[in-house]
Parts: sequence; structure tokens; C-alpha cells
Amino acid sequence: MSYNVNEKGYYGEFGGAYIPEMLYPNVEELRQNYLKITAEPEFQTEFDALLKDYVGRPTPLYFAKRLSEQYNTKVYLKREDLCHTGAHKVNNTIGQILLAKRLGKTRIIAETGAGQHGVATATVCALMGLECIVYMGEIDIKRQAPNVARMKMLGAEVRPALSGSKTLKDATNEAIRDWINNPVDTYYIIGSVVGPHPYPDMVARFQSVISKEIKEQLLEKEGRENPDYVIACVGGGSNAAGAYYHFLDEPSVNIIAVEAAGLGVDSGESAATSVLGKVGVIHGSKTLLMQSVDGQITEPYSISAGLDYPGVGPMHAHLFASKRAQFISITDQQAMDWGLKLSKMEGLIPAIESAHAFAVLDEMKFKPEDIVVINLSGRGDKDLNTYIDYFKL
Ligand SMILES: *Cc1c(COP(=O)(O)O)cnc(C)c1O
Repeated sequence: MSYNVNEKGYYGEFGGAYIPEMLYPNVEELRQNYLKITAEPEFQTEFDALLKDYVGRPTPLYFAKRLSEQYNTKVYLKREDLCHTGAHKVNNTIGQILLAKRLGKTRIIAETGAGQHGVATATVCALMGLECIVYMGEIDIKRQAPNVARMKMLGAEVRPALSGSKTLKDATNEAIRDWINNPVDTYYIIGSVVGPHPYPDMVARFQSVISKEIKEQLLEKEGRENPDYVIACVGGGSNAAGAYYHFLDEPSVNIIAVEAAGLGVDSGESAATSVLGKVGVIHGSKTLLMQSVDGQITEPYSISAGLDYPGVGPMHAHLFASKRAQFISITDQQAMDWGLKLSKMEGLIPAIESAHAFAVLDEMKFKPEDIVVINLSGRGDKDLNTYIDYFKL
């Protein structure tokens, strides 16, 4: 079985491009060009150089000694928290902006919920001197003031989405409308392995540098390329896709996907898509998503804004349906407790998204000789206020 996308844009039964007719030319232009352009040696040279000198790659693979002792296994952390802007998202925005430039685009649009993808997009637009418009729900603009300020400092225009629930899905609708109206000069940077084909595959490829580096680093540190477990949190699924990518066809590597259970999977306040989701279409892709019996998208909930998404990308839906990956749901409380624990035990304050992944150490039993790699997708600075409120710091 293949876990990668097929030539029609599907992972098993998931994926495809379910888009309005008027969006077809834009998506088709991308589909016809993304593999060709990203395979060009000049593209790769520029991408690699920016990842090295601008993002700070390779990010370290850190052996977490105290965690390893406590859990009696070998725990390694892939340090995406050390990327410029504080998380893995910039790996993807660098790749897409280089692609946009080669397609002759001069105007960049994006949508953002918590603002992390907006910041990563505004950053690379500043780097390349391109116009940047970020759509964001009006409510999210109020909730995420520091990221809005960052985007503005970086020269982006933040446009409020005023319709519907005034959150991420409304911002996405606005971005899509913009792209339909500006098909020639505008490129739409999507922030995770979601959206119509070819976005999920393209974003997974840009993020796959994570597992490429893990292989090289494990070979050097442990004398073998493959870990026994690779663990990552899943919102849309891009950091996880990057951490899994080069291990998908290595059956000895157990793949663990961690979703946000919020207040509990049965509480009505959750974002555990694999448990609660049914097959449906979201953002132009057929995948698993949380919906009511009549097909309305359910509002998800998680304390971490990056995991607060009602679907998962089609690759992850397929990894779930085919049982290639094991899915585990972790509550707000478990994640928050790990945020504090990792800070005290290893001196690393994680993003709350990433903290979910660590809770797997309590949920599963590992052998002393197992190599367990956890993707530390981002640092916790952005979450400081949430930590302060939660722990009364
Ligand atoms: C955005 C974000 C996530 C969730 O997005 P994925 O596409 O699932 O990776 C996870 N961790 C951090 C730190 C984030 O900023």
C-alpha cells in the first residue's frame, strides 16, 4: 500500500480537489508546475540555503536525558522550536514563496486562525519584498493581538473576515474569494497539509526536511536511521507529515498521531477528528471532518489554537483509515501539565500544540532499547498568557 499521494491527488479514498469551477485555473496552474519547479536544481539550492541560513536548519535532534531516565526508554526531541519564528511552519512558507516567485506572482494571500501561519507568511513576504494580505476572522484578530502586531510589523495587511463565526473557516472563504478575483498575479499560501490537491502533497514535501534530518541525525547518534516510534501532534497535520514522511514506507517505524481531545472526546468540546470525524469535504479536500448529522461543520475546541481545527489533512485521514498510524487523543489538562513538566525537566517551554505529543509517554509503554522521537513542533512563548492564566503563574 502507498501512503503517498497518487497521480490523481488521492491518498486512498481521501484528497482530490473539490473546488468551485472558478478556482480551477489557479489550482491547475499549481498542479502542473509544482513538481517540475521544485525539482529544478536552482530551486533546491535556494530552498536549502534559506533553510540553513535564514531558518537555522538543520534543527538539532536532542537526546532528552532526564525524560529518557524517567520513562526508561530513549527519547529524542526534534527541535523545530528552534526554527526562525519559533515553529516548523516557516519551512513550508519558504518553499511556497519560492514557488510563487517562479510562477511570476507578485501578490501573496493567506488565511490564519491563531496567527502563526500568518506570521510565517508575512515573514517570507518581507524576505522577498512581496505584497502580503492575511485574512483573519474578526474574533481571532481580537484573541491573537500579539500575532496581529507581528504581521503588521512585518509589513502585511491583516484583513478581517466579518462573516459567519468570524474565525478560521470564514477567513479561508475570504482568501478563496480573493484568489478567484485575482487569478493572475496572486498566489495563495496554505499553511498545512490541507486544501485541494496539490497543496497537501506540496506542503508535506516542504516539511519532509524534518524526517530527512532525523534519519541523518539518528544514523550518526545511534548507528541506525529509523526510530521505533515517531510521535507528532496533528492540527491540519503539517509538522506530523514532515516528521513521518521518510518513515511512511518503513514498517518497523511506529507512527503515532496525537490529536487534541480538548475537554474530553465525549464532552462536545474537542478537536479529536479521527474519533469524532466522518468523511466529508473541507477546504477543497475529501477527508475526515467533524460534522453534524446533516453535514454542518462542528466548531472544534482545544486550548491550543493550532490544534483547534475541525478536520485533518487527507494524508492523515488515510493513515488513520489504513491503520498505518495510531491515533491518540490528549486532553487540555494533560497537555498543559506536560507544558509545565517539560519546562521543569528539560528547560524547554513547548508550544501547547507540541505539549500534546509528549503526553503519549504516559499513554504507551516503551522498551528500554526503543528509540522514540517526539517532534517538538514549536516553542511556547506565544502561549505564555495561556500558561499564566491556567497555572495562575
Ligand atoms: C500550527 C502549529 C501546529 C499545528 O499545525 P500542523 O499543520 O498540524 O503541524 C502544531 N504545532 C505548532 C507549534 C504550530 O504552530
